[in-house]
Amino acid sequence: MKRFCVKCGVEESPSTPIVNGLCPKCYVEVRGVVEKVDKIEIEFCRSCGAVNVHGKWIDVNSSEDLSEIVEEYVIDSIKPLQDFLLEDVKVDFKPFEDSIATIKLFGKLREIKIEHAIQVRMFWKSTLCPNCRRIAGGGHKAVVQIRYVNDDEEIEKFVKLVEKEFNKFIKEIKPVKKGYDIMLTDAGIAKKIVDLAKRRWFGVKIIESFGDVKRLSTGEKMARLYISIRILNFKSGDYIVVNGTPYTVESFDGAWLKLRNQNGDVIEVHVDFVMKSFSKYKSRK
Ligand SMILES: [Zn+2]
Ligand SMILES: [Zn+2]
Repeated sequence: MKRFCVKCGVEESPSTPIVNGLCPKCYVEVRGVVEKVDKIEIEFCRSCGAVNVHGKWIDVNSSEDLSEIVEEYVIDSIKPLQDFLLEDVKVDFKPFEDSIATIKLFGKLREIKIEHAIQVRMFWKSTLCPNCRRIAGGGHKAVVQIRYVNDDEEIEKFVKLVEKEFNKFIKEIKPVKKGYDIMLTDAGIAKKIVDLAKRRWFGVKIIESFGDVKRLSTGEKMARLYISIRILNFKSGDYIVVNGTPYTVESFDGAWLKLRNQNGDVIEVHVDFVMKSFSKYKSRK
């Protein structure tokens, strides 16, 4: 016995299966393809724009990122009807603004391709992510003072790398004379920056100290950590005083220095030795 759609009367065929008495077109019209969604609520950081995805704060670097996150949210929030196989969603929404979002649902109803759009209220809940809350509350916890003899491409590359790697923990990068001060919200990151510098240069002198002890609004005591990273990137022509004797740098290969004294004598010393015994230096420039 042939079956017909109870709504439009179309006869069942391979391209028009009857599901619960309805053809695919009428099925979607009458029942939809997913259970009713009341609203979608997304928590975001008003300071850095990160989005809270199931308790994890995810950085959003582009509108594509945000679309992906929203689509994941939507997939998690909707429940397809039993006969419908949900394959993909596309969401039309206003970023960080409460509005009605249009959700396009793509999938199959008994092997028949279905495309169906629904509208859902989308709410954006503004808050501060833990990292931004820390910045707003306690200020920075550490300062890394990068100092160099010569400003060169390697230094610039290094500062850019630090900025990229630890962006989330950097409050500010301040250029100062012959260096940069990097304000960090996490003291542990300071040590990681030291490690990075040590991997790049042999001649790196590290000096750690603590600033005044302060009491935070939480009652916690905190002393700001200062780490000075002095990068001895000598170039020929630089002036240096080692063990009280002034020298001019002849050459430096990253590890070994050739130094000329005022009489024209040249000595070769390792940068480790110089690091322990220099009292001052001056770049040729
Ligand atoms: Zn029908
Ligand atoms: Zn944030």
